[in-house]
Amino acid sequence: MARNKMLRFTTLEQEYPTKRPAEMRREDFDEIYTAFEPAKASDQASRCEQCGIPFCQIHCPLGNNIPDWLMLTANGRLEEAYAVSSATNNMPEICGRICPQDRLCEGSCVLEQSRHRAVTIGSVEKYITDTAWAEGWVQPKTPAAENGFSVGIIGGGPAGMAAAEQLRAKGYAVHVYDRHDRIGGLLIYGIPGFKLEKYVVERRVKLLQDAGVVFHPNTDVGKTISFADLRAKHDAILVATGVYKARMLSCPGAGLTGVHKALTYLTASNRVGMGDTVADYESGILDAKDKHVVVIGGGDTAMDCVRTAIRQGAKSVKCVYRRDRENMPGSQREVANAVEEGVEFVWMAAPEALLGDADNKVTAVRAIKMHLGVADSSGRQSPQPIEGSQFTMEADLVIEALGFEPEDLPVYFAEPDLAVTRWGTVKTDHKTLMTSIPGVFAAGDIMRGASLVVWAVKDGRDAAERIDQYVTAKAAADKSAPAM
Ligand code: FAD
Repeated sequence: MARNKMLRFTTLEQEYPTKRPAEMRREDFDEIYTAFEPAKASDQASRCEQCGIPFCQIHCPLGNNIPDWLMLTANGRLEEAYAVSSATNNMPEICGRICPQDRLCEGSCVLEQSRHRAVTIGSVEKYITDTAWAEGWVQPKTPAAENGFSVGIIGGGPAGMAAAEQLRAKGYAVHVYDRHDRIGGLLIYGIPGFKLEKYVVERRVKLLQDAGVVFHPNTDVGKTISFADLRAKHDAILVATGVYKARMLSCPGAGLTGVHKALTYLTASNRVGMGDTVADYESGILDAKDKHVVVIGGGDTAMDCVRTAIRQGAKSVKCVYRRDRENMPGSQREVANAVEEGVEFVWMAAPEALLGDADNKVTAVRAIKMHLGVADSSGRQSPQPIEGSQFTMEADLVIEALGFEPEDLPVYFAEPDLAVTRWGTVKTDHKTLMTSIPGVFAAGDIMRGASLVVWAVKDGRDAAERIDQYVTAKAAADKSAPAM
């Protein structure tokens, strides 16, 4: 591979890996970006300015040492690039695919800020790790010795997986319990294949299994097994259950047939993609084919729903959001992809009522136009309805993608001592990451609210460190306690 000098942004234009044409993308659920050619990855990495204060690294939740692995990639030293990149991240190829880089590393890149356009950090990160997998450099982190302690992790999403890998490497017996039949959390059942193909997640799960992590799928803690029983089995517990209670529409008609929660819809589509038979998909209930689809919401989940509906062969797909494009929570890159694929965005509008026929089946959405009013306490301008601006959109399938809240875990776990915040997320001590119950920790969305994969990985890694400190200190204290 070519050896490149750095700072080549002066002569090399920013280039992302080629995107497959939209007409082709609409026909399948495969990832939309092709892989970088080796020379292209090296060239693009060499655009990095190697600035003294790397804002890309500062704005990465994991503090990834991006300038170093860009420099190593530019010089063809890919195995070392992988070593540096994987030192701070348990799933770099997953972050490379689905992190909103435009809001994190690439958005903070000095080249972006100085209008030279950012280094394509996410694509290089994906390239490095996909190469590492192909070359056999990704190996299970088996411990040098067992330490005799065990940790139970509730939830096999990115937070649980990252914690599991870190703890196993330290010699813990690690057991991951998940209510689903497959491990991966939202990486498997939420995020569609066109952003993250499932083999990418499955090989990570296998890697953990090969390291000795024991998975217990189909185990709903609070139902299949009690939280108290689990605590009795392990030296520490990590709660990494994510947030799954969907926010619902409250307008008239919200209960009509044909109105579905985003995750119900996406899970069915992901299951079908993995070869499962889903009755509600087979019957057409959760299949957008030949339907007029209206998705309500403006986050990542809404973007995934509209693009799934396009691939299922919907007649029309509209995304209704009450703010404008600049003020939406979803990634701008995903909006651009959705537009290319044929999604129509109805900005600055909110549903007023869902209209139905005699059989109570949804037929249309009546919406009202909005304008942005004064900023609220969070600094965001709050949308206000424009009187008399109502309009209707035809709809046979309406998907609610309004965000998620935590389940009532103290009730679900029959553990009233588990303290939660006013948002229902599990309360942890900022320093120890321990909950109100000794030996019980929390990480990921259930601790911080609906967020990003990269934050879940960060929380999982941090929790693993704190669990190790707690178990080690407790064992030392127990040993030195006077015999009764
Ligand atoms: P999860 O991934 O939710 O995993 C939690 C796991 O806990 C699940 O497997 C669940 O089955 C299990 N569980 C829950 N309760 C129990 C119980 N009682 N007993 C046993 N197991 C239990 N983030 C990005 O960075 N980029 C994206 O492009 C992106 N797209 C998204 C698209 C969608 C549709 C959604 C919904 C989210 C998206 N996110 C994205 C957010 C990201 O997926 C989450 O922030 C991340 O998965 C949180 O990780 P987690 O491990 O905390 O929880």
